[in-house]
Amino acid sequence: MPCTRICSQECAVLHNHRCPVRQKSLAFQHSRAAVLRGSNSRRSLRVLAVDYPAPQLETSAPFLQAAALSAKLREAPRPERPLQIVIAGAGLAGLSTAKYLTDAGHEPILLEARDVLGGKVAAWKDEDGDIYETGLHIFFGAYPNVQNLFSELQIQDRLQWKEHSMIFASRDIPGQFSRFDFPQWLPAPFNGILAILRNNDMLTWPEKIKFALGLLPAIIFGQRYVEEQDDKTVTEWMRKQGVPERVNDEVFIAMAKALNFINPDELSMQCILIALNRFLQETHGSKMAFLDGSPPERLCQPIVDYFVGRGGQLRTKSRLQKVLLGSGGDVEGFQLADGSTVTGDLYVSAMPVDPLKKLLPASWAQMPYFSKMSQLKGVPVINIHIWFDRKLTTVDHLLFSRSDLLSVYADMSTCCKGMASDTMSMLELVFAPAEKWINRSDQDIIDATMTELERLFPTEVAADQSKAKIRKYKVIKTPLSVYKTVPGCELLRPTQRSPIPNFYLAGDFTKQRYLASMEGAVFSGKLAAEAIVEDWNAKSLPAPAQSAAQKQEEPVLQKA
Ligand SMILES: Cc1cc2nc3c(=O)[nH]c(=O)nc-3n(C[C@H](O)[C@H](O)[C@H](O)COP(=O)(O)OP(=O)(O)OC[C@H]3O[C@@H](n4cnc5c(N)ncnc54)[C@H](O)[C@@H]3O)c2cc1C
Repeated sequence: MPCTRICSQECAVLHNHRCPVRQKSLAFQHSRAAVLRGSNSRRSLRVLAVDYPAPQLETSAPFLQAAALSAKLREAPRPERPLQIVIAGAGLAGLSTAKYLTDAGHEPILLEARDVLGGKVAAWKDEDGDIYETGLHIFFGAYPNVQNLFSELQIQDRLQWKEHSMIFASRDIPGQFSRFDFPQWLPAPFNGILAILRNNDMLTWPEKIKFALGLLPAIIFGQRYVEEQDDKTVTEWMRKQGVPERVNDEVFIAMAKALNFINPDELSMQCILIALNRFLQETHGSKMAFLDGSPPERLCQPIVDYFVGRGGQLRTKSRLQKVLLGSGGDVEGFQLADGSTVTGDLYVSAMPVDPLKKLLPASWAQMPYFSKMSQLKGVPVINIHIWFDRKLTTVDHLLFSRSDLLSVYADMSTCCKGMASDTMSMLELVFAPAEKWINRSDQDIIDATMTELERLFPTEVAADQSKAKIRKYKVIKTPLSVYKTVPGCELLRPTQRSPIPNFYLAGDFTKQRYLASMEGAVFSGKLAAEAIVEDWNAKSLPAPAQSAAQKQEEPVLQKA
């Protein structure tokens, strides 16, 4: 699609713009969006459905660092023969492990329990061909390993970048929004600081000043201070730093729910500081993009094509049921639910922490590396899709709902090319905290959601459906999703290299600096591949993998 015009959020007529911008499709060229009224940052806006140009990430330090790690794996000394590496779990962590192991000259065998790829980014199509997902997923500029992965697979054009803003629904005025707009002409951290200073809807000047003073130690003492804050919840930190309670209510409830699906009185302050650091230190860090369709198809399948085309294997419906140990205590095979055994030279778990804990052999359970992990636990979350009979007032962006039950939401019929419709809205909403709701019926959850939507769309949605009508809905519950980031859990996260010589871990819960996120998952897979390369590529290697029975006779592999 040829480039045509740029749009700023304040322009009323799309066709008067001069600058070029890549557009999505003809359907997306028209201003189908909202006119939002108010004062200051709530002034009249016309938000347009267009793709924004991809930010210039390639020259940023984190992107270059991530590119250097990809190059290290690609250029690693070739092993004497490719090692067969059995990986359990085809979420982004397992897929990334497999991809980077093939880059380093190995042959991964990726086992996935289900018949769908992607784990927490898994998605399906219903009988009408409409996509529904495990979670509404946003890709940030501050995801250097994910951005590198998209480039390496040559699928960067599948990310639909939105304007550089964070948009919060007003808590007090139904149907209104408050924006943090990051000016394009300023580098980090000044673009973020100006975005905060220019927003006068959510925080008063004295509140902003007190909050800034509270953050001073993080700015002065940096990483050491950030790590030390893992002993406090967000709410405890706010009180200790003398930050007004309203800052918590106005900003941090929404942020905590978006980051970890829990409230600030449970979330570790370290989590917030890490996110602020990433978003504010990088000029495009908080810029957001939507994938242009279903993640298994648009992101996971290209990864599979990549490693299968280079000698790797994918086996779906292959659930790991037991980790088989040899006499030396190392892994001898992965026994699957159908009774078969898959053997290789090395083994990786890329399963989430909860199923992994259940499968750990008893003889490992006492090792501190594994016993610490037993305290990590997934948090419940619910992802809701509601297809309406009409197009609602819409914004081409992620929105922070700031309501009791909902976290973030988006009209996917506007934000995502693969779900586009000019005549009907599909709202995708993250329902959190979900602890009290995870066992409730879908109908109860939809009824509660509609009551909250009445406030977000006062002129168009009524809880009794006397206005917009629900055509259909899908409620996807994940009782154990990403690990709950409560105080103290940073120390419990395991590294990718385990104490067992031929066993490694990947997964968003493993140690890496991007919390539980798609970036964390992809990075963890890359780190697991790096550990394997460092331990094995330069070594003289053992004989090819044999059956479990044959392997019992062989010596235990030792790490460097
Ligand atoms: C509702 C929701 C919204 C989210 N929004 C965002 C967002 O906007 N941005 C963002 O960056 N992150 C977001 N996340 C987090 C992100 O999805 C995860 O951090 C990431 O996808 C985790 O990847 P993973 O590979 O570590 O684990 P998973 O995706 O959980 O993958 C693990 C895989 O292991 C498989 N498995 C489990 N047991 C076995 C077994 N016994 N044998 C074989 N395979 C097994 C599973 O089926 C799964 O495929 C969101 C998550 C949810 C739930």
